[in-house]
Amino acid sequence: MPAHDVLIIGAGLAGQRAALAAARKGASVAVMSKVHPVRSHSVAAAGGINAAISLDDDWHSHAYDTVKGSDYLGDQDAIEVMCSEAPGEVMELEHIGVTFHRNDKGELDLRAFGGASMKRTAYVADITGQAMLHVLYEQLMKHHETVELFEEWFTTSLLIDEARRCCGVIARDVRSGAMEAFKAKNVILACGGAGQVYKPTTNGLIVTGDGIAMAYRAGAPLMDMEMVQYHPTCLVETGILITEGARGEGAHLLNAAGERFMEKSAPNKMELASRDVVSRAEQIEINEGRGVGPNGEGIYLDVTVVPRRRTLEALREIVNLGRDFAGVDITREPIMIRPGQHYIMGGVKTDADGRTAIEGLYAAGEVACVSVHGGNRLGANSLLDTLVFGRRSGEHAADRAAHMGMPEMDSGARLLEDAAEIEAIIERPRDGRRVSEIKNELGELMNRYAAVFRDEDGLQTALETIGRLKEESQNAWIDDRGTVFNQDVLGAIELGYMIDCAEATVISAIERKESRGAQFRTDYPERNDEQWLKHIDIALNGDGAGGPQVSYSPVTITQWQPEERTY
Ligand SMILES: Cc1cc2nc3c(=O)[nH]c(=O)nc-3n(C[C@H](O)[C@H](O)[C@H](O)COP(=O)(O)OP(=O)(O)OC[C@H]3O[C@@H](n4cnc5c(N)ncnc54)[C@H](O)[C@@H]3O)c2cc1C
Repeated sequence: MPAHDVLIIGAGLAGQRAALAAARKGASVAVMSKVHPVRSHSVAAAGGINAAISLDDDWHSHAYDTVKGSDYLGDQDAIEVMCSEAPGEVMELEHIGVTFHRNDKGELDLRAFGGASMKRTAYVADITGQAMLHVLYEQLMKHHETVELFEEWFTTSLLIDEARRCCGVIARDVRSGAMEAFKAKNVILACGGAGQVYKPTTNGLIVTGDGIAMAYRAGAPLMDMEMVQYHPTCLVETGILITEGARGEGAHLLNAAGERFMEKSAPNKMELASRDVVSRAEQIEINEGRGVGPNGEGIYLDVTVVPRRRTLEALREIVNLGRDFAGVDITREPIMIRPGQHYIMGGVKTDADGRTAIEGLYAAGEVACVSVHGGNRLGANSLLDTLVFGRRSGEHAADRAAHMGMPEMDSGARLLEDAAEIEAIIERPRDGRRVSEIKNELGELMNRYAAVFRDEDGLQTALETIGRLKEESQNAWIDDRGTVFNQDVLGAIELGYMIDCAEATVISAIERKESRGAQFRTDYPERNDEQWLKHIDIALNGDGAGGPQVSYSPVTITQWQPEERTY
């Protein structure tokens, strides 16, 4: 049986950064990913990464912007860690080979991003995630003697011993269908977010909340799950993202009358207010009949105001996306966009070293909630979150491993259970619904009732429907009965993970009876610090039979008292 000091589930930026950190500390490391590492969703990140690296900037200013962006729900101690360590992290990446864009003086160039009080986003054109992911993968090759890669292995569950310590995982080799137990002194979940719970979403098909659901089922609390980010600029038909970098370069948002409507809700920052504010403003224009396009469902993003040469140099990927997916040359005409699901601020509750409530289990990146994003993440703070907390988790786990022996646990029963569950899915009779039908209904449901605007009735409808979908998913059938690359059976398992994430999101959204950050309750339109300046935690206790249990935890405030939030 494979056995490692640190086993990392996920090979996106958080997972690879954790692996590099643990390897540099001398730990034996395994990285497992259900897709080839450089196909991890981090590859899609476009606009850049925040760090106070310019001489006239200061990490305190970055931290304040982040606290304000979070609508004061972010934990300020964790935000201070992230922002103070940001410059070092970006310089480290630069030194190991990420070719960040430079200005005419040869210095790292920085672009403006939403909610930031100055230009502090380092970037590689609009392929920043891809550039970073490839460099980290390259760096891991240097440690091939101590870092083992399990590419195209799908984790099905966590191994938890009787003392409630995490001792490894069960996984399936996607290529052959073989099941295996992996022992580890520490497991780091770096499985990414849960965007596929929504339809449409900017997230790829692999972003299905696996890590969140596995930790939740094992008894680890989730936090801030009600906070789901809608990005202001997604293509109307497909939900594909047009990076915030476009507005950072100066693009305008226009309604049907050609007005820059952001003047009404954010007269100072205009299009560069934080994402929750811009998405709400767009949705109001659409709902009140000032949208553009045949059904008035869109808003114009006008990139033509950016010099064409600059667009072709710094935004070339979205020039291609506009042409290929909307038939629009963004350098010559406005493109139709609307708010779309993009990111989840919530996840597995951790401390600033990535530790969860379960000993030996860590989480970092979008799967985790430290909480540095609180009610709303600032653009370009997620890549930073993956790197800072990926590294810190990797280092902490490696240190812990150095002081303990390999856990002894009999994983046989769990291995048989997971294998039998997969066989049962493959054998299901074709008299229920298809997995894909249930997934579509779930996504559309969430996009209708747990989106930019929410209310009690809609959320209750969502919760009841999720209950039905959960039951239907127990009998949902698939086509592929084989073992080799059976993506169908993995899809059925992922559906279960997504339903768990959706349920936790909706229950938390019902619980929070106020409007803050990405959660706007039309029935409770005001922020209510007196009652709701607190995190909502949600957990399955014991064997999960009692269902999800909600509790609260305090928001850590260090330097910045809550104030009215204006842009
Ligand atoms: C289109 C787009 C553009 C973005 N642009 C930016 C940007 O410019 N700046 C910014 O800061 N943020 C951006 N973001 C957000 C940011 O990219 C993500 O939040 C971040 O990359 C997530 O990284 P991660 O390492 O946590 O997870 P991911 O990169 O999603 O990696 C998850 C890993 O977990 C593995 N995995 C999952 N489940 C299993 C399982 N069951 N078994 C085995 N392996 C599993 C996957 O294979 C993968 O390797 C963007 C997001 C999108 C969608």
